[in-house]
Amino acid sequence: MRPTTVFRALAAFLPLPVMALFLSCTGRMERPSVVLIIIDTLRADHLSCYGCGRSTSPVIDSLARAGVMMENVSSQASWTLPATASIMSGLTALSHGARMDVPTGNVFGMDPEMPVLPMVMKRNGYATAGFFNVYLLGADFGFHRGFDIFSCRENGDGLADSTVSAAIDWLTGLQDDRPFFLTLHFFDVHDPYDPPPPFDRYFTDDGAGGGVYWEFTPEGGVARPEQRIHLEAMYDGEIAYVDHHLGILFSSLREMEREREILVVLTADHGEEFLEHGFVGHGRTLYPEITCVPMILAGLERLDSIPSTALCGQYDILPTILDLCSIQAPQSLEGSSLLDLEPGGRRSVPASGINTGADFHQVSVRNGGRQLIWNADTDRMEMYLLDTDPLALAEVPPDSVLLDEALIYWSTPLRWDPVLLEDWRVTPVLRDLGYVK
Ligand SMILES: [Zn+2]
Repeated sequence: MRPTTVFRALAAFLPLPVMALFLSCTGRMERPSVVLIIIDTLRADHLSCYGCGRSTSPVIDSLARAGVMMENVSSQASWTLPATASIMSGLTALSHGARMDVPTGNVFGMDPEMPVLPMVMKRNGYATAGFFNVYLLGADFGFHRGFDIFSCRENGDGLADSTVSAAIDWLTGLQDDRPFFLTLHFFDVHDPYDPPPPFDRYFTDDGAGGGVYWEFTPEGGVARPEQRIHLEAMYDGEIAYVDHHLGILFSSLREMEREREILVVLTADHGEEFLEHGFVGHGRTLYPEITCVPMILAGLERLDSIPSTALCGQYDILPTILDLCSIQAPQSLEGSSLLDLEPGGRRSVPASGINTGADFHQVSVRNGGRQLIWNADTDRMEMYLLDTDPLALAEVPPDSVLLDEALIYWSTPLRWDPVLLEDWRVTPVLRDLGYVK
């Protein structure tokens, strides 16, 4: 089927903004423009297209129907800094080394010499812009590199409407015929769960009366587990709010009638816990509520050849975008282009990177639907079969092959030289964001 025919066939099922965006794709041969969307703290199973019982994401659902929705995705880390560094570098958390060392509280940003996606795009003729919304993804940590235009609302209070408006303003002002690479990072879904009206009442009728944060005991435990119902509803309201503004973004992309194809890649840095394993938030464990993140690609005919069931990771995003843009990838990446994956491949995808709690030396290895979590300090192993137990609630005997792979991964040497941040602002800002107690 010719691409135009594909998009017209999809049109009957798509909301107007998304439908219009993809009707603009006609298979032209120039390098596509690229929009990379990172929704902070978005676990996959709270999107309708990934099985959420609520209609949280009609626009994202349409994106998934128009393109390819990867069904088995593992984040490379449990929190923002290392996970987003993996998205931007194509490397595992151990290789790029952007992290927090829990015992000392030392925080390391990305090596300024490490190739990152916006740098590669810029060097290959792309106009680049990045709009981010948390200090951890600011210039101090190296996330500005390669962007012609870069902004970061460091205290995390930038809402989706302002992020989308800034992106549309930048797109509208583009003066030349270069393709563009645009990254939008949304922090709305991260706590506090306080979506603007009317989204605060989309999935609950108790409004702000139920609070927007968890309440904790003096010892750090969850004081009121019954808050889960309200807070999950508010979390889902945040998703619906971001989804609404993505519709505005996609509509504007169509109205601009760019003379190129537009590849859209949507993902998250990590998920969020709602007491599935006794914890809330993120950064403490590598269970599926943290590591199972969405990954959706749309806008190009070549996406049809990607096997949606293949296991993939965030570190595949860089090589995939470069492959689809016919750009040479940096050497020695650990991620792979999704176009090179096999539907039934026996690939394993690792994760690590904890920023809180005593058990911070954890490794996860996914292979197909199997997940092994190994604690390097205690040698404790947990094994789950996610195909039948998607929330990892029933342990099964550990797999020695996956354990070997976890041990091999844990011995991965640093490939780059991450930068220790000694800036006085680091600790206060991270404390305000809840990352440092
Ligand atoms: Zn995050």
